Amino acid sequence: MSRSVLVVGEPRPTGLVPASREAVAAARLAAEGGAVAGVLLGGSPEAVTEFSRGGVTGLWVGSDASYAERRIDRWVPAILAAAKSTESEVIVLASTGFGRELAGALAVAWDAAAATSVTELTPTDEGLFVAMPVLGGRATSKLRLAGPRAVVAIRPNAFGAPAMSGEAAPVESLSAAPPTPTLAGRRVGFEANAASQGPDLSSASIVVAGGRGLRAPENFHLVEELAEALGAAVGASRAVTDAGWKPGTYQVGQTGRSVSPQLYIAVGISGAIQHLVGMMSSRVIVAINSDPGAPIFKIADYGVVGDLFLLLPALTAEVRKARASG
Ligand SMILES: Cc1cc2nc3c(=O)[nH]c(=O)nc-3n(C[C@H](O)[C@H](O)[C@H](O)COP(=O)(O)OP(=O)(O)OC[C@H]3O[C@@H](n4cnc5c(N)ncnc54)[C@H](O)[C@@H]3O)c2cc1C
Repeated sequence: MSRSVLVVGEPRPTGLVPASREAVAAARLAAEGGAVAGVLLGGSPEAVTEFSRGGVTGLWVGSDASYAERRIDRWVPAILAAAKSTESEVIVLASTGFGRELAGALAVAWDAAAATSVTELTPTDEGLFVAMPVLGGRATSKLRLAGPRAVVAIRPNAFGAPAMSGEAAPVESLSAAPPTPTLAGRRVGFEANAASQGPDLSSASIVVAGGRGLRAPENFHLVEELAEALGAAVGASRAVTDAGWKPGTYQVGQTGRSVSPQLYIAVGISGAIQHLVGMMSSRVIVAINSDPGAPIFKIADYGVVGDLFLLLPALTAEVRKARASG
């Protein structure tokens, strides 16, 4: 049963958040051959190009200056206007911090079923079935999204993005809709680490995270240099953020971000359960720790027992060398 699906693109300064492109793949699955339109609010020209070539059948672009402020009361009516124009029954977006907030507001305003952090999606005649990891990745919750409308936020790195097409889909401009008064004041900042130049932590495909084993804030550059060499985002344990070595936006875990990259490198992190629940669904986990009994080794795919102060500079140098030689 084919259905029309709308994908909400989340812009970042240099284009689209990668998980927005992956959302197009999930939307195509849900559409079962139906139309997959995109909507982009406040994106750069690069984001428009990336989105229009990223597998959508058409793109609605809203350029009102207020969209860049990420005000939920502005985004929700604009997205619902695009959903109406495209007769969409499903809205798909990236399950970033901003995406989850938006998914909830959209579901209420659109009277739709909603699911976030979705890693699997199966369309059936009885509706969409979705699955998402729960209990820190130890179990999977499966739901049927009942009713005529659904909002699905997909977890970064769970769906491969479709190949870029040489041809851009038609782009239409979306006129600004009046704000939704009940959502006034809701505003969600950019996901990117304010102080980091690297990729966004929530959707990065590689994360290098540092813990108290680094001993002092002036040593954190060892983690940042390895991350830069790998093109990775930088994360941290709560010991690091509580001590003020890095802002709270870097924290991975129960009271921080949940990440599920292809590769997670934990450096000088013991592996307390509150940290593990935020990263244990990563595809490959590498742990570097001087204590062979550290709990992080129980979940690591690759463990290196050793002194991070010796290992990290050597590893960074090797990565740089390998990258330089192509
Ligand atoms: C309600 C609650 C919520 C929490 N939420 C979170 C959360 O969201 N995220 C989070 O991370 N924590 C959270 N915590 C804290 C958590 O319990 C741990 O205290 C914290 O994760 C420990 O951080 P760490 O691993 O960096 O430090 P430590 O536990 O002190 O571990 C440091 C590690 O570095 C290793 N090390 C030391 N020197 C070296 C060296 N030279 N080379 C290599 N390795 C070395 C040590 O062997 C050790 O394993 C929470 C706690 C509570 C109670």
